[in-house]
Amino acid sequence: MTALAGRVELHCHSVYSDGTLTPAELVTRAAARGVSLLVLTDHDSVSGGPELFAAAAAVGLRARLGIEINCAGAGAADRVHVLGYGFDPASPGFERRLSEFRERRSVRARLMVDKLRALGHSISYEDVRAAAHETVGRPHVADALRRLGVVASRKEAFERFLISGKPGFVESMGPSPAEAVALIRDAGGIACLAHPQTAGKQAELDELHRLGLQAVEVRYAGHTPSQMRAYGDWAQSRGLLALGGSDYHGPGTGREHALGVDYDEVGRAAIEEALERRCS
Ligand code: AMP
Ligand code: ZN
Ligand code: FE
Ligand code: FE
Repeated sequence: MTALAGRVELHCHSVYSDGTLTPAELVTRAAARGVSLLVLTDHDSVSGGPELFAAAAAVGLRARLGIEINCAGAGAADRVHVLGYGFDPASPGFERRLSEFRERRSVRARLMVDKLRALGHSISYEDVRAAAHETVGRPHVADALRRLGVVASRKEAFERFLISGKPGFVESMGPSPAEAVALIRDAGGIACLAHPQTAGKQAELDELHRLGLQAVEVRYAGHTPSQMRAYGDWAQSRGLLALGGSDYHGPGTGREHALGVDYDEVGRAAIEEALERRCS
């Protein structure tokens, strides 16, 4: 086992979901930044795996396949995103469930297109799908609006059209947090709460813990130092692994801060436990 050194990246997206780089391009960037372990966590898709592993092998980078599942439901559930690590993507029913989630995303995207067309924008579902290799999402709707010249950025598209209360918004059709956690755990993986600051208040986080959550993304680009301390304390008090990642989506997404998180800060023991023992 190669020792982890330098930076690690436990949370990033490729063109197989709403990132703008291919897995091979992510590998090139990660290698250039001294990242020693790259985990691809596309939304509801593991199809980037073959390309990720081929590119990583060519440059001698350690790579793993993860996942991010965006949830739906009452209260804070539609702000819960569950990351999965160390699962077996070939376990029974795993890919079938993911493909159901992707199908529901397509239904949702078509409904958003209908709403935007009713507002007078000449957007089509084909425009939305244009750059999506597999999983479609609101960022693809945002990109289509940008190509039409309606907005200048994904951020503007979300703020004007695509968040709750705005005229292009359609509720998420993702699984419940309980289903997302169970899917990852049933496939032998570790379920990790992504960016907990968006996921709700203390009681809601504790409810996720009761559902079987095993890890939490303590270190995250959008967290302040005091939030990181608070989530770190919460993780420790509940026996959760404290992980962290950048949520890199690639150029042009507004979510393109540097790939890779300094290893010491996320905790060597937690990463080894989440990824190495169960995943190699
Ligand atoms: P969806 O899964 O279709 O509901 O879309 C949610 C995804 O959109 C998140 O996982 C982020 O990747 C992305 N996203 C959310 N808000 C923004 C924003 N303001 N700017 C750019 N991307 C965003
Ligand atoms: Zn995303
Ligand atoms: Fe997320
Ligand atoms: Fe993400």
